Amino acid sequence: MKNLLNTEDVTAFMRLLEKHERIVLTCHMRPDGDAVGSTLGLCHLLRDMGKEAHVVVPDRIPKCLHFLPGSKDLAVYTQYDPYCTRLVGDADLIIMCDFNTASRQGDLAPLIVGADCDKVLIDHHRDPDIECDVIFSCPAMSSTCELVFRLIAACGLYGKVSLESATCLLAGMITDTQNFTVNCDNPEIYEIMMRLIEKGADKKRIIDEALKSTTYDALRLNSFALLERLEIFEQSRCALIVLSKEDLARFRYQKGDTEGLVNMPLEIRGIVYSIFLREDADCIKVSARSRYDFPVCDICRDLFSGGGHLMAAGGEFYGTLEDCKKLLVARMKDYDRFIPAKIDRLEIRQ
Ligand code: 5GP
Ligand code: MN
Repeated sequence: MKNLLNTEDVTAFMRLLEKHERIVLTCHMRPDGDAVGSTLGLCHLLRDMGKEAHVVVPDRIPKCLHFLPGSKDLAVYTQYDPYCTRLVGDADLIIMCDFNTASRQGDLAPLIVGADCDKVLIDHHRDPDIECDVIFSCPAMSSTCELVFRLIAACGLYGKVSLESATCLLAGMITDTQNFTVNCDNPEIYEIMMRLIEKGADKKRIIDEALKSTTYDALRLNSFALLERLEIFEQSRCALIVLSKEDLARFRYQKGDTEGLVNMPLEIRGIVYSIFLREDADCIKVSARSRYDFPVCDICRDLFSGGGHLMAAGGEFYGTLEDCKKLLVARMKDYDRFIPAKIDRLEIRQ
């Protein structure tokens, strides 16, 4: 496996690990498999090295990640503010994983930004703007978990990777690549997967727990969304799903229930991108996915103060669901120029 990391950064990171004992790992709000997998995966390793390490997450993790070893010990800021504040205040090193800008941490951001200690960023989103002592920013990588594994290997710590750590890291790789169907062109990721399986990580269990476990209500909510709330914009090759808070309440929506929904319309031949608007308690959550290098991250950046990856992005809208949809529909044509010239016909009979 090639070393894709800057040797000076790796050395600086190792020095920080030698120097510090109390370490906080943290990630973005609405944590996903890669955010939780990378922080917990590294946390297990640091604890096995004798460090006093803790993971502080901005808000609760979805049920599909509860199987991850150590998930019960996460310090959740929205639930235990004083405990999280104390952990961050006591830390002499903070390691931030899977986000590139402070606002992605929501209400936890001021605490982390204001912490007076050494800081490291490990991330695979473009253009990080967080002040840190060491930054590992690798947008080419499938997941932050892949990057964490490469960093561990570059530090010569592969031998210390436990079953628990391997499970968390493989879970992040599997969820961010949708079980190795997107961002998986680099053959080396399969070598990393093999190394993690050699450590005992159970690939089938991770897939069953993280990607293939649902509830009766969630399955019906997703079916309802596809049947009743999916709109196709033929000219723009866009599929749009809009779920109101009444829709969500009807199916007793729980955090994580619509994970993966935005990917489904992308399977329609001739569709280039898919957008999902969900009316959450505090804002309209926007999720976007695309094919053929169509830049959904631009739409999320331009219209929804968000960002992400070229073909998997998200954002937020503060206002009514109707206004959010209106904005998107009004601006949609601006992005038609990114639709590839040669493309499958879109066959829709309304
Ligand atoms: P998801 O649709 O699964 O919530 O997010 C897809 C991708 O977009 C993730 O890589 C995530 O980091 C990014 N993303 C999601 N929501 C936001 C957001 O509100 N702001 C930014 N900058 N990125 C987001
Ligand atoms: Mn990620």
